[in-house]
Amino acid sequence: MMNIICSDLEGVFIPEIWINVAEKTGIEELKLTTRDIPDYNVLMKKRLGILDAQGLKLKDITDVIDTMDPMEGAAEFVAWMRERSQLIILSDTFEQFAGPFMRKLGMPTLFCHQLEVDESGRVVDYCLRQENQKQKAVAALKGLNYHVTAFGDSYNDVTMLKEANKGFLFKPPANVIEEFPQFPVTTCYDELKPLIESALAEGTGL
Ligand SMILES: [Mg+2]
Repeated sequence: MMNIICSDLEGVFIPEIWINVAEKTGIEELKLTTRDIPDYNVLMKKRLGILDAQGLKLKDITDVIDTMDPMEGAAEFVAWMRERSQLIILSDTFEQFAGPFMRKLGMPTLFCHQLEVDESGRVVDYCLRQENQKQKAVAALKGLNYHVTAFGDSYNDVTMLKEANKGFLFKPPANVIEEFPQFPVTTCYDELKPLIESALAEGTGL
C-alpha cells in the first residue's frame, strides 16, 4: 500500500480568509465560518449576500488576501510532509482566493472550488466542484489503493477524517472536540508530526 496525506487549508496552514476580510472591511457578519454554520451552502449564500449588500467585489477580497501570510512554520511543515508522502490539500476555498497562498506554501497540490465572477468583478455565484468533495476525494484515493492520513480543524473536515484510514484534528474549536472525540487532537505542527509518522508507517506496513 502507498501513502497519501490529505489536509485542510484554512485554519491549518493559513488563517481563515473570510475572518480577515471581515476585520479589514469592518463587516462583522463576514466572520461566520463553518465553525459557526456547519452547512457550507447556507454559509456561502449568506457571504455572497453580504458582499452584494456592501458592494464588495472580488478585488476587494483579493487585496486583503495579498496582505496575508501562511501560519508560522506552515511552509516548512508542508515541505516536511512532501518529503515523506504525497500530499493533497482538500479545501472548501476557491481558486481565486488560494493562488497567492499556494506560492507561499511551495505550490502543493490543491483541490478546491471556483467563484463565478462577472465582467465588473462582482462575485455572482460560487461553483462547488462537487458536494462533500473532501470525503469523496479520500474515498477515491482509497479506491486507488492509497492509505490515507487526513487532518483538519473543523466541521467541514469531519467526513474526510471519518473516511480516511487515520484522521486527526488540528487546533479545533471546543465544540468539534466534544462532538467528535474519536479523533486525536493536536495543537501544533510538532504534535502532528509523530502522529503522521506512525500513520505513514502503518500505511507502508512497517
Ligand atoms: Mg479549516
